[in-house]
Amino acid sequence: MDTIQQFITNNFFFFTLFLFLFGACVGSFLNVCIYRLPEEGKSVVKPRSCCPSCSTLIRWYDNIPIFSYIILHGRCRKCDAQISPQYIIIEIFIGYLFVEFFILFCLSAQYVAYLYLTCSLLVVAIIDFRFFIIPDEISFAGMIVGCLLSLFFPTLQGTSKHLIGFSYALIGLVVGGGMIYLTGVIGDAIFKKESMGGGDVKLMAMIGAFLGWKYAVLTFFLAPFFGAIVGLYVKFVQKKDIIPYGPFLSFAALLSLFAGDPIIKRIIGDVTLSPWVIIGIFFGIVIGLLLIWLLIKIIIDLVIKKKHK
Ligand SMILES: [Zn+2]
Repeated sequence: MDTIQQFITNNFFFFTLFLFLFGACVGSFLNVCIYRLPEEGKSVVKPRSCCPSCSTLIRWYDNIPIFSYIILHGRCRKCDAQISPQYIIIEIFIGYLFVEFFILFCLSAQYVAYLYLTCSLLVVAIIDFRFFIIPDEISFAGMIVGCLLSLFFPTLQGTSKHLIGFSYALIGLVVGGGMIYLTGVIGDAIFKKESMGGGDVKLMAMIGAFLGWKYAVLTFFLAPFFGAIVGLYVKFVQKKDIIPYGPFLSFAALLSLFAGDPIIKRIIGDVTLSPWVIIGIFFGIVIGLLLIWLLIKIIIDLVIKKKHK
């Protein structure tokens, strides 16, 4: 281990450059996932990428992350159609994450786990925002990866025993998924229509498997704050009725991961979090949020009725 550490310290620049380029390649793969996963039955491995405009197969030398986009000025070599800047933005961003997480976590189980989680959440957020779906491939794979990593590297769940780490991941999975499921059941009963998608339940289960139940609970409570702001925008500016909830859960999960401890301390101080305290807070806030939501709905209906008159 020491020799690896020594090697990295001696070649720090080249090592981070390698991480960045490797991350850019992963970003390139994530771009493919973002475009193909929403389409039923499309594989992310085959066929090879082609230009969405003229369907020409993209050559390997035109498919090099970041560089090809710059050399081709963001256009197809054959038909000159513009290629979405999303490709190069995601490639650079993921490359950056590979370096930034290395600075934060060094080469550790945390590095692998949190990178995997962040990449998955990014893909989910973009797909859900565009198509209102959360692909099962990502959430189920995430649940399995989260549980297995906790089994082999129990420090992820704050313990040194393998089976305890695994059981913490399972508890997080059940608590995370269960809370969204329960909210959905309550919401359906009140609004008489589907309020939470099954995709949200599976996504929260995946987040719980990685972060454990405490941060899953925090994620659950943080998400509505982002959701409410964007929800009003979607309702009034875009005049749509459905709000994709995946992006808010994803953003809240990342906030819990990086700022969870200070936030929890700020809200409830140093009270020991017994399960009963959590259950009490949970129901209190759910009821509170439903009341607020009901109030907003009544106001919205009043405003819309007034406009129609
Ligand atoms: Zn083309």
